[in-house]
Amino acid sequence: AKRNPEHKYVFYDNGMRERSGFTLGLESDLRRAGNGDEFELYFQPKLDLATDRVIGAEALIRWQHPTRGMVSPAEFIPLAEETGLIWDIGAWTFMEACRRLAGWIEQGIPIPSVSVNLSPRQFQDARLVGFVRSVVDASGIPPDRLELELTEGAMIGDIEKAVTILNGLKDVGVRLSIDDFGTGYSSLAYLKRFPIDTLKIDRSFVRDIVKSSTDPAIVGTIVNLAESLGFDTIAEGVETVEQAEMLRQQRCTRIQGYLISRPLPVEAFEAFMRARVVT
Ligand code: C2E
Ligand code: CA
Ligand code: CA
Ligand code: CA
Repeated sequence: AKRNPEHKYVFYDNGMRERSGFTLGLESDLRRAGNGDEFELYFQPKLDLATDRVIGAEALIRWQHPTRGMVSPAEFIPLAEETGLIWDIGAWTFMEACRRLAGWIEQGIPIPSVSVNLSPRQFQDARLVGFVRSVVDASGIPPDRLELELTEGAMIGDIEKAVTILNGLKDVGVRLSIDDFGTGYSSLAYLKRFPIDTLKIDRSFVRDIVKSSTDPAIVGTIVNLAESLGFDTIAEGVETVEQAEMLRQQRCTRIQGYLISRPLPVEAFEAFMRARVVT
């Protein structure tokens, strides 16, 4: 870079300007949206094929931007992570999920549990355990009806620290799952030390499971591994009956995906649940 400063400068400057133009616009919008008015939680049911029961729902954030329309979390969560805004957004998400679940419990809508996603920076924030404890206490919800979904990426680096945080969360009593399982780097030595409840088998293993010569075996191996370690499994991104059948053959009966339902806004989710109870 030093040998050719001029070239380097021009290249870098153009790249930066484009990037920060996009990022700055969205970042200030994200700050403004942070009061909660533009955010909404959608809920996607999780089903156990063995009992045909809804075992829970995953809360997924939606951002209704006044001019850009719906902005995908895949777009703004990484930005929120980079800028530190994720703490406030995540706090809102967790409180809102608790508020919704408390309402459903009160109305007698039978939703066993609600899960919330935590990104790596939220997981590593020193305030996390205290925050979760105080919100759970204030909500009056039995803590084991709340679940946190974490990726392996949140837990690599300082394993001792990760184990301490996970134990702190288990002390509160919430359930823990590893999201996108199979795409990260958890070694078996670490996995057995994590006090988690569920492995969420990544969508990439489900997508091609019907055609692939290897993916059924991979899923089967994850299910066996989970069983040995005392964890449950659930497969995400299940879109077809054939995929569900292949998963069932590998003894993974818990599924989530468009086959059951897309993520739904609250009223539609409640209607979905009511329709299931009646039939
Ligand atoms: P994720 O946690 O892996 O969530 C699953 C994603 O797959 C969701 O995308 C969901 O809408 C989508 N999906 C569900 N079923 C199917 C299916 O059958 N087929 C396909 N192709 N996709 C399906 P979404 O809602 O756009 O969220 C994307 C990611 O953004 C999430 O991935 C999660 O990492 C993150 N995210 C979403 N909400 C939150 C949140 O409240 N907090 C944090 N920290 N991250 C969030
Ligand atoms: Ca998730
Ligand atoms: Ca996932
Ligand atoms: Ca994912």
